Amino acid sequence: MQNYYGSQRDVQRFGLLGGTFDPIHYGHLVIAEEVRTVLELAEMVFVPAGQPPHKPGKTITEARYRLAMLELAIASNSHFSISTVEIERPGLSYTVDTLRLLHEQWGEKTEIYFIIGWDSLEELPTWYNPEGMLEQVTHLVAVHRPGYIEVPGYRDQLEERLPGLKQRLLTMPAPQLEISATDLRQRVAEGRPIKYQTPEAVEQYIIEHRLYGQGEKATQQHDTHAS
Ligand code: ATP
Repeated sequence: MQNYYGSQRDVQRFGLLGGTFDPIHYGHLVIAEEVRTVLELAEMVFVPAGQPPHKPGKTITEARYRLAMLELAIASNSHFSISTVEIERPGLSYTVDTLRLLHEQWGEKTEIYFIIGWDSLEELPTWYNPEGMLEQVTHLVAVHRPGYIEVPGYRDQLEERLPGLKQRLLTMPAPQLEISATDLRQRVAEGRPIKYQTPEAVEQYIIEHRLYGQGEKATQQHDTHAS
């Protein structure tokens, strides 16, 4: 018996969404749920990055805070879970290593559907050991923006840069929210609202733990103005 994407019944099918989640927001949550339901995945696993290789030298919020916000954000969805595999591992978080560890934990009968932002797809051939990464995923799931028109020949160009990619690539539309963690951090720092861009519990957590230098920039701006 085969299911929607032709997998065997005894195989467990997990979606994986990696990110810094500094902080988690509705842009992440909505694509995770859309991919999970459209592809009929058993579970969507969020993997917060320890030390992301593509953000060298960039200060990111301590993992315990990012993790706590993630836990609050996914609490209402029984099909969402978190893997701390990258946080627990010292050094840079290479996706190829993360996938290998997850396969070890979950068993070889697990299919991994790896969500990737369309922009990151362009960069994939430059990642550390991208061939090894491809070998370990059943599909890469690239989420399109509404109105996105793919240039003819785009997938062939990607395939030339990373053989095997085209065959693994699934693309799908999902509700696209123009929300980014960078913008949320800036908003908090400037004392502007983030309400309706992240779950209320996350917003409360940010306030209670005084994350993202809240109000500092606003105060500085105010001081500058006043002097
Ligand atoms: P930052 O602004 O700090 O770079 P971010 O908002 O892009 O953060 P990440 O944690 O880096 O969030 O993203 C994790 C994954 O979620 C990436 O694959 C990214 O492309 C995707 N993503 C982030 N925001 C959105 C969004 N609004 N819509 C769709 N995908 C998103």
